[in-house]
Amino acid sequence: MDTKNPKCVQCRTMRCGTTDKDVPVPVSCPTEAYADLISETTEKYHRPENKAVIQGWHTLMTKILDPKNPREKLSWTRVDQIMEYAKIRGMKRLGIATCYALLFESKLLSDILEANGFEVLSVSCLCGEVNPQDAGIEGNIFCNPILQAEVLNRERTDLNIMVGLCIGHDILFLRHCTGETTPLIVKDRALGHNPVAALYMSQNNFYKERFIRDDR
Ligand code: SF4
Repeated sequence: MDTKNPKCVQCRTMRCGTTDKDVPVPVSCPTEAYADLISETTEKYHRPENKAVIQGWHTLMTKILDPKNPREKLSWTRVDQIMEYAKIRGMKRLGIATCYALLFESKLLSDILEANGFEVLSVSCLCGEVNPQDAGIEGNIFCNPILQAEVLNRERTDLNIMVGLCIGHDILFLRHCTGETTPLIVKDRALGHNPVAALYMSQNNFYKERFIRDDR
């Protein structure tokens, strides 16, 4: 495989966040190493389906990142952001693709969305009640993220929200869902569905030993 080995996390200059084009960048910088892709991808933002999303994002960020009110951004939860994005885009019909184990949380979300004027549909990952053996899987329980996606496709939801789908199921859901989709909850059974806590805690001694072993 021909790789340019991009490693932005090791960059010391982070020129892409500045307007100074004289700042040196690593040889592996994707801006330089993949220069041929820049105009090709920029062109894609002119496609109507992408333009609508990026304009929705831009309008939302203009509200959140208000230079006259720097504390404004601290008041926007992800739930607020999803609702505002949907309002900006004129989206009325929202779908929740939920893990069966997070139906309680999804009900809370559904109630909030409905209280804010949205029409809300929700589909559990266990929908379909398929015998796992019929899908060539061992065990006695079968989550069906492909069906979850196809139901929401057929329901023609404007925006789908993923709630706690397991890793792998989320991949299949995204592969088969044709509507716009955004995650709200990423399942993390150890950390109350707050996976970034593992990264922050990797800096303390207990978690450093757990994640970064010296004997490798
Ligand atoms: S894109 Fe280039 S300049 Fe930006 S962080 Fe990555 S390597 Fe650094």
